[in-house]
Amino acid sequence: MRLDKFICKSTELTRNEAKKLLKSGEVRVNGEVAKNAAMQVHENNTITIDGQVLTARTSRYFMLHKVADSICSNVDEIYPSVLNFIDVDKAFDLHIAGRLDADTTGLVLITDDGRWSHNVISPKKECKKTYRVWLRDTISKDKSAELIEQFKQGLQLQGESTLTRPAALVLVMDDTLSVDESNNETNEVLLTITEGKYHQVKRMFAAVGNRVVGLHREQIGDIELADLAPGEWRELTTEEVALFI
Ligand code: URA
Repeated sequence: MRLDKFICKSTELTRNEAKKLLKSGEVRVNGEVAKNAAMQVHENNTITIDGQVLTARTSRYFMLHKVADSICSNVDEIYPSVLNFIDVDKAFDLHIAGRLDADTTGLVLITDDGRWSHNVISPKKECKKTYRVWLRDTISKDKSAELIEQFKQGLQLQGESTLTRPAALVLVMDDTLSVDESNNETNEVLLTITEGKYHQVKRMFAAVGNRVVGLHREQIGDIELADLAPGEWRELTTEEVALFI
């Protein structure tokens, strides 16, 4: 980690304040004055400010139930960043492990541990993400086998050179309706994918001639949104964090 970042992580200082402090010559790494903000440091280094040893705060891990009209970015744009919802010190030092579109709701993982978020996001890690999807056109249960197979085999998305990785599509049937009432059709499905291309779910349904009208992420790996209310957040448990270490 960069020395200025280490200082920010272990104190209340901002990046600019850390840089000023470095210039002042009050910071030492293993006893030597260190002025270079970009210097790489690690756990075994002894870093002091004015003789006081710094201990890096441990990384932080949260989940949030994202509401619509919020964005997965570290800056506010047309909509506020989801980081505004996390009521902790230096929330904007955190980042989002797997972004959702502004109109998508559901589970978002938030951390300051880059290696951990890489394990969540990287397609190589094949971490499953499950979405509840509402579609413009209904799907008939009787004719769904071919569609399910297409998602399993991979779809050709516009502008991509490779097919999507195998995805699992499950129809959600309304059990409260009789067969006659439902026509054996539904416009609600669960889709599980292991990659996160730009607008992937929307583009997958566009590739089969349908359109997503509602999208909600329910699960990432074994971490479930469960009954966390919209806009609410909580720290991840040690067990949940360990899933992506
Ligand atoms: N796929 C999409 O199209 N949008 C999202 O927000 C997430 C996955």
